[in-house]
Amino acid sequence: MFEKVLIANRGEVALRIHRACREMGIRTVAVHSEADAKAMHVRLADEAVCIGPSRSSESYLNKSAIISAALLTGADAIHPGFGFLSENADFAEMVESHGITFIGPTAEQMRKMGDKITARQAAIEAGLPVTPGSPSLDTVEDAKTWAQKIGYPVIIKAKDGGGGKGMKIAYDESDIEEAYTMARAEAKASFPSDVVYMEKYLQNPRHIEIQILADKYGNVVHLGERDCSIQRNNQKLIEESPSPALNQAQREEIGEIVRKAIAKIGYFNAGTLEFLFEDGKFYFLEMNTRLQVEHPVTEAVSGIDIVREQIRIASGAALGYEQKDIEFHGHAIECRINAEDPETFAPCPGTITEWHAPGGLGVRVDSEIYSGYSIPPFYDSMIAKLIVHGKTRNSALMRLRRALEEFVIDGVSTTIPLQQEIISQAEFIDGMYNIHWLEEYMRKRNQNL
Ligand code: ADP
Repeated sequence: MFEKVLIANRGEVALRIHRACREMGIRTVAVHSEADAKAMHVRLADEAVCIGPSRSSESYLNKSAIISAALLTGADAIHPGFGFLSENADFAEMVESHGITFIGPTAEQMRKMGDKITARQAAIEAGLPVTPGSPSLDTVEDAKTWAQKIGYPVIIKAKDGGGGKGMKIAYDESDIEEAYTMARAEAKASFPSDVVYMEKYLQNPRHIEIQILADKYGNVVHLGERDCSIQRNNQKLIEESPSPALNQAQREEIGEIVRKAIAKIGYFNAGTLEFLFEDGKFYFLEMNTRLQVEHPVTEAVSGIDIVREQIRIASGAALGYEQKDIEFHGHAIECRINAEDPETFAPCPGTITEWHAPGGLGVRVDSEIYSGYSIPPFYDSMIAKLIVHGKTRNSALMRLRRALEEFVIDGVSTTIPLQQEIISQAEFIDGMYNIHWLEEYMRKRNQNL
């Protein structure tokens, strides 16, 4: 087992990884930008190294500074968390070439499954259901031809896309030129490549994803699904497990399909396969070759510490259990609490004047925040995750309502008022929502104001 792990991230996920390491008796090294010198992940780690100025391009994305910090402190592994360098195959390769273990899949697996076009191909070969789609599109004419073949509406997406960026819908041929040009321009501005491709645009799907764990010896398990359909701007705001839309047979069927596909692809460590689900059918969207923000809902229902498993797998340990050994209990819901205006979603950095996190049975808060902490303006606006667990969906909902009421965050605006509103709507309570529900709900509500 590793003796020292460097955590190449910040915020709540850096703390999350620190906690797993501590429980495993592993020492931790935090890295931080100048803006994060007083952050909680820096305070709690055994050692801390400043890796550069506040802008992430000069610190959390600075590969050589991070590797130098690992060499300097004698860390034997690096956990990338999510975001930043977590899906950067070149970084994984660099880490390994310095004799340090990258806690995640291999660079080759990341290249194959992290690229949406090659991942679609691998998914098809491994027997996963996939949305009808195109290869990479080189011209507007190409896009028109493929849209004809697939049938409108279609969505043009960046092959390296993430965070809901670089996606444009075309409802008919007159939309294609603009959608194609804009998707490429957005991709060029945000991602390493401006290559785009096309998929059938599903009108009213849910977003349901399957968590997997796989070791280096071909053992694969799935940890059930998460329903992440409550979204704005294609970004998740509330997630739950199990999904209220699936019955037991559907759940077991997709879990088994995914488990077999991952074994065939030969991927290891933790990963998530994202699907759209419409009219009883699943369509593979993409794979995330890393830990995800919403992993705690799966931990709550499965009792498995996913970060601990990532570290064990990377160190060469076998899973040590099979699918039949995994039991799911109760229901879990997560709210991503962002420092944002709850109406416009504009980031709202500032100083937290008062902070009180909820607690009690079945309540987990993952956050780096403390009273007096100043949220820097340079990074993601998520400041906390609230995860509740109950015996039934209804008891989890009651608990969530109570925990959100108890939360005190003064000094900045947060998404909490919107989340309180969402969970009291009849459709949410009945589990009757899809990926458009939140935006439609807010539009209708604002019209009636
Ligand atoms: P990203 O990597 O940017 O998160 P994804 O491919 O995971 O992009 O898609 C994010 C969200 O965009 C999905 O959860 C869904 O809401 C919407 N979306 C993506 N592809 C489609 C599609 N083919 N049809 C309908 N909605 C889609």
